[in-house]
Amino acid sequence: MAVAPKPPLEILLCAPRGFCAGVDRAIQIVELALQRFGAPVYVRHEIVHNRYVVDSLRDKGAVFVEELDEIPDDGQPVVFSAHGVPKSVPADATARQMFFLDATCPLVSKVHKEAQIHFKRDREIVLIGHAGHPEVIGTMGQLPEGTVTLIETVADAEAFQPKNPESLAFITQTTLSVDDTSAIVRVLTARFPSISAPHKEDICYATTNRQEAVKRIAGDVDAMIVVGAPNSSNSQRLREVAEREGCAVSVLIQRAADIDWSQLDGIRRVGVTAGASAPEILVEEVIDAFAARYSVKVELVQNAIETIAFNLPRELRLPAAE
Ligand code: SF4
Repeated sequence: MAVAPKPPLEILLCAPRGFCAGVDRAIQIVELALQRFGAPVYVRHEIVHNRYVVDSLRDKGAVFVEELDEIPDDGQPVVFSAHGVPKSVPADATARQMFFLDATCPLVSKVHKEAQIHFKRDREIVLIGHAGHPEVIGTMGQLPEGTVTLIETVADAEAFQPKNPESLAFITQTTLSVDDTSAIVRVLTARFPSISAPHKEDICYATTNRQEAVKRIAGDVDAMIVVGAPNSSNSQRLREVAEREGCAVSVLIQRAADIDWSQLDGIRRVGVTAGASAPEILVEEVIDAFAARYSVKVELVQNAIETIAFNLPRELRLPAAE
């Protein structure tokens, strides 16, 4: 019996997509710590928000915990995740004489420093971000409790009543929707014209580039597949960006097995991208899954070229002691 030919499908593959420099550095820190100090290496919170990455590191000897009190006093290192931690965390680790390695993305640390500078200058600080996200908890935790006001929406910005409107500053989470954040900033700057803004965007280059790449193709595809974790802020934003740009089906999946093929009936063109914490192997898996059902033609749509790389912590750059 003749086999029916596969229907044709064009895949527009966004670039940049997937790992950013901060995620790459954080994973390297855990891997190098395992090589240098042996297992276990403790990691406070998921090093990056991706189950595949976390499981792979766990297989190599990483032990994931949510808080330091879950770690025994065995002298093994503990790594803080890329999202950053409140000041109390390194303080507690120091008090317990723990050896810790900080994998906080340098672009998150930059926001922490901005918060501290505003605080020193007696400015009331507004953080634009999502409640409960570890980066937001880490950034708010750089300063005494109650110092930073979280604003999540335009409505929050409209309702915000500062103590002194003349001495205000805002900072943002690094992985927000560029458009939503602009709308919130517009309200704040209209209401408080003297509010201090970041010198350069707090939303990081990787978040911006991945959103721009999705915008470029979202109107031309029947569906957008975003590879990433449900707790990954930047991945969620990519899914939303495609939806807002009019893409009829925009889904966030962790693995190829999560694809709901019934949603994709009759599609001729699909966009594929990945959040900053999703490894390329999972994108390849998705393309292979499409290739098993369709006769695929993959076209790379390159929106920006990223060359950023961050230094490793000093402890891992030094040669290992004999
Ligand atoms: Fe750093 Fe941006 Fe990557 Fe977050 S998404 S780890 S802020 S480069």
